[in-house]
Amino acid sequence: MLLIEEFLDNCYELARKISEENLRALIEYVEESVDRIDDPLLSDPVVQKKIQDFADYITKAKDLPIERGLRRLSNVPGMVERFKNEHLVSDVGCPGADVVRKNPATAIKYAKGVGPSREKLLKKLGIETIWDLVNYFPRDYEDRRKVIPLGYVREDEKVTTKGVIRNVEKVVKGELSIVSALLQDGISQIVLKWFNQDFKELELRQLIGKEVYVTGTAKRGFFGALEMQNPEVMVSDSPERVILPVYSLTENLSQKTLRKIVQDNLDAVCSLEDTIPEEIKRHRKLIDLRKAYVGMHFPKSMYHLKASRTRLAYEELLLFQIALFLSRKTMDNIGGIEKHFSGELARRFIETLPFKLTNAQKRAHEEIRRDLRSPKPMNRLLQGDVGSGKTLVAELAIIDNYEAGYQSAFMVPTSILAIQHYQKLYQHLEELGIKVALLIGSTSQREKENIKFGLKNGSIDVVVGTHALIQEDVHFAKLGLVVIDEQHRFGVKQREELISKGKVVDTLIMTATPIPRTLSLTMYGDLDVSIIDEMPPGRKEVKTFTLRHTRVKDVYEFVRTQVLEKGDQAYIVYPLIEQSDQINAKAAEEMYEKLAKDVFPEIPMGLLHGRMSDYEKSEVMSKFVRGEVKILVSTSVIEVGVDVPNATIMVIENAERFGLAQLHQLRGRVGRGEKQSYCFLIVSEAGEEAWERLQFFASTTDGFKIAEYDLKLRGPGEFFGTRQHGLPEFKVADILRDAQLILMAREDAKRIVENYGDSAIIQKVFELYGDRIKLLDIG
Ligand code: ADP
Ligand code: MG
Repeated sequence: MLLIEEFLDNCYELARKISEENLRALIEYVEESVDRIDDPLLSDPVVQKKIQDFADYITKAKDLPIERGLRRLSNVPGMVERFKNEHLVSDVGCPGADVVRKNPATAIKYAKGVGPSREKLLKKLGIETIWDLVNYFPRDYEDRRKVIPLGYVREDEKVTTKGVIRNVEKVVKGELSIVSALLQDGISQIVLKWFNQDFKELELRQLIGKEVYVTGTAKRGFFGALEMQNPEVMVSDSPERVILPVYSLTENLSQKTLRKIVQDNLDAVCSLEDTIPEEIKRHRKLIDLRKAYVGMHFPKSMYHLKASRTRLAYEELLLFQIALFLSRKTMDNIGGIEKHFSGELARRFIETLPFKLTNAQKRAHEEIRRDLRSPKPMNRLLQGDVGSGKTLVAELAIIDNYEAGYQSAFMVPTSILAIQHYQKLYQHLEELGIKVALLIGSTSQREKENIKFGLKNGSIDVVVGTHALIQEDVHFAKLGLVVIDEQHRFGVKQREELISKGKVVDTLIMTATPIPRTLSLTMYGDLDVSIIDEMPPGRKEVKTFTLRHTRVKDVYEFVRTQVLEKGDQAYIVYPLIEQSDQINAKAAEEMYEKLAKDVFPEIPMGLLHGRMSDYEKSEVMSKFVRGEVKILVSTSVIEVGVDVPNATIMVIENAERFGLAQLHQLRGRVGRGEKQSYCFLIVSEAGEEAWERLQFFASTTDGFKIAEYDLKLRGPGEFFGTRQHGLPEFKVADILRDAQLILMAREDAKRIVENYGDSAIIQKVFELYGDRIKLLDIG
């Protein structure tokens, strides 16, 4: 049993390399398999003839001189492609242009075959318009073209098989009536049964002795023989021997009904305009938009389905890439400020540091400087693993920006981090005469007024803060640079709101989320990227251990020894147990008291959680930084950014509850100095899968590997929190699987933006992504 497309694919494979050997193999293959082709498409005499001609063309090469034989071989791929596009792809019949076409935006109740009750059902599936219906893609497909010989039918697999109907009977047992029949093919047989469907008897009697196709799932019957219950029976060559869509359904809506509704309304695609320029369609071998819609629902072949997916995925990616290029272009067009500075101030600052910049830091700094000096506004992403020293690079940018005569705003996701950065910047920058202020939610009203005043009249040069920076009505005299730390914690909107506070500011966005290149192209195609791919020297890899909770005492002992004998410091972190700060705070609080009383009575401890006031938090943090607190018990509030180099032990309780990215961030809190650091994952209840995940995490400290693993595990949507990132939810495209398409789409998007300024496709981009493009256009 061989389908035409399988036959052709095999020929194609053999003809990919031109050699005498392959020619011989191809001839042999065609000779032995052409008669095995069993495909409903063969009922079309044109197809039949073409396949026969194709087979002859190849087998006759046997009698030709070798060069001519090889030439035939080299023609095969082209022939296969042409055949596929002609006969394995279908279209909808569209009425002529004079016929009024159905507008896809039409409400679903006006669709063919949809009355009030079906309207309700469809709305349950989120289908409001005919357009939604056409875009309601199947979750799976059922390939009924393939016929499994009766003897190969296995239990529990839904298949189509073939045989002759015999022995039709009806038995009534009380309430139940059973119509049964035998399906035979001369070698094997199988029992078919229908329950309470009396009308089947007559239908089947008419089929006795005839060859039919049967689709169903076989089960072991009472006596151990295979039987199919309520299978579907088709006379040969019936139009049902096709690939059928399988949709997600809702109660009272059958697969059959939904298929029919889609089928009857699919001609709505007739009014779609295919906006991808011909040139690009040809180059990328994309099928027509209309054919692609047909292929998503009723593919004529697997080739059709694949080509349809590719086409639609490509279009989604292309439109998004165009949007990125357009917003990039609007940003560039605004025209930034050409900043002038000698770099002397930064040089002096670097001299005071107790260490040398890593080469990666130097490179990133240089890239930023070039942007600051350029007349285009900077939009740069600074990517570097936890602990790679991004903050310092940001400080250098702030110093340059100050030297050029502009103010900077530094936005971070948590108040703890804001306080920490503020302290660091204050300590570093005040010496250089740069005035730094801290603005967070808990800053007193009076202080806030002072800061706002200072920012407005220009007496404050740098402000560090949380969301408060965008929430308050803060105005700047001369904002020139916005730095956003740990960007994964912010939404696109927030980032843009802050940027909009300056006229044309330079923006530096920092993230520790290492992402594969194709992904960063998808997400940040509108940003330039600097990568810090080098850790400061002398760092030792953090040793990570995964332990059952029964061994927690050993870990505590280890902590005690390290703290008392080596003067180290430790974090003990408790996870988010519920979506309630209060409950989490309580868990951490209780553990803190218990540990302080029973486990570490002789060691000074501190407690940190999200419910404490900013003042309390900063008090505890300062004590920890100064080494007055040795063990800090905390919730995951310390996850991001916290930097205390003398802390060398990270104990994470209920580690199975954390995601890998979070664990990586937490582990990143240690290993920041030259001492050996340790991370203990304490596991309470973990299935095998969770163990495996933690085991993997323990085996590497490479953020890139961890991110990739995580991405595969959770998929991009969850991994990034799509909406947060302004990454659109693609219907067909899959940003992991379609990496190659992303690269192509990017290339084409650039061409389109350059060469098709006012075309239909650009219009479409504006319809879809107008917001995003405009947002960046605030200037
Ligand atoms: P992250 O990239 O995670 O934000 P930080 O900026 O917090 O990392 O830096 C981590 C630690 O490394 C800080 O204590 C910082 O002072 C230190 N550091 C930064 N750059 C260097 C360097 N070139 N050499 C040594 N230590 C450095
Ligand atoms: Mg940081």
